[in-house]
Amino acid sequence: MVSRHMVTATERDGMTWYACEACALLFADREEAETHEESCEGDDPDYLQ
Ligand SMILES: [Zn+2]
Repeated sequence: MVSRHMVTATERDGMTWYACEACALLFADREEAETHEESCEGDDPDYLQ
């Protein structure tokens, strides 16, 4: 089982936001953040060349 999800929960303005650890993008929905992380290559520079 390989999981590279590193979504970070942050509380702001009384709301919980979920930040992509790779590119720091914020999401209001955890599932959305995880879905983004799956396709986010912000932590994998080799792929982006
Ligand atoms: Zn990202």
